[in-house]
Amino acid sequence: MPAGDISAIAYQQSHTRNRIPAIAMPAIATLSAAARRARATLSHWRTLLPGDCPLCGDRARAGRLCAPCERELCWHARTGPALGLPWRCPRCALPLDGHDEPCPDCAGRDTAFDRTIAAFDYGPPGDALILEFKHGRRYPRADMLGNLLAEAVRHDRLPLAPSTVLLPVPAGMASLRARGFNPAAEIARAAARDLGLPLRRGWLWRTREQARQATQGRGGRLRAAEGLYACSPAVAGRRLALVDDVMTTGATLHAAAAALKQAGAREVVALAVARTPHAPRNVRRQGPWAAGPAVRGHGY
Ligand SMILES: [Zn+2]
Ligand SMILES: [Zn+2]
Repeated sequence: MPAGDISAIAYQQSHTRNRIPAIAMPAIATLSAAARRARATLSHWRTLLPGDCPLCGDRARAGRLCAPCERELCWHARTGPALGLPWRCPRCALPLDGHDEPCPDCAGRDTAFDRTIAAFDYGPPGDALILEFKHGRRYPRADMLGNLLAEAVRHDRLPLAPSTVLLPVPAGMASLRARGFNPAAEIARAAARDLGLPLRRGWLWRTREQARQATQGRGGRLRAAEGLYACSPAVAGRRLALVDDVMTTGATLHAAAAALKQAGAREVVALAVARTPHAPRNVRRQGPWAAGPAVRGHGY
């Protein structure tokens, strides 16, 4: 396991201690701040070296997509509807067939986060990048996914305020034990470095453990996530951006944002690498993976 991921676990442990019922975790050494900086510098310089694009195998900067694959994966999330691309819900970034109005989900509820920025829709081939990172332990993918998220922020019509603080959505202990790291925290670390914005891992934590959400519907997820998060009083008056890997129903980000707003946060923007569409969409695809299966959902 790379040093940065060991550090991520140790950091999360140190900030969740006494806040979640005691669960035995192995003793893990914490890296020094200098070691963290060295790893970040190495990771940055590594991207200047040549490598293979993980989607098509062509030449690319090490650990990154080649330019054509990045454009093909992200163009419909980065570009507005003026070019005939899907409208998106201004609150949750769900692709819509209609106009620039909230989707039925957001129109019918008081969503706690103010808006959403996503790098791409959850489906082939981007879902493989995330699944390999989370379940295949391809740790360097965190830098690539964080970079794609940072690019989505730069392309958004409403840039993040320079004072925005990034907060990763905390992982459950079962997930931490199984994977050994929190994917959202690693992506947030990379995105914060790319954007030059501060990251605070200790400002948001879970109040309890919960069952896996993959088989629950939206209503079940909303009920299960209610009161799941608590936060530091330091968030009062701040502009914040919550980082997660996949936004499926938005229930998790809503619950986390609700805790932050209740503590006085001024603004909460949801940042998700991938946004799950409601249903398969016929998105035109090009490139070596164009013959792949249609966009599929993620436990929706
Ligand atoms: Zn490529
Ligand atoms: Zn919406």
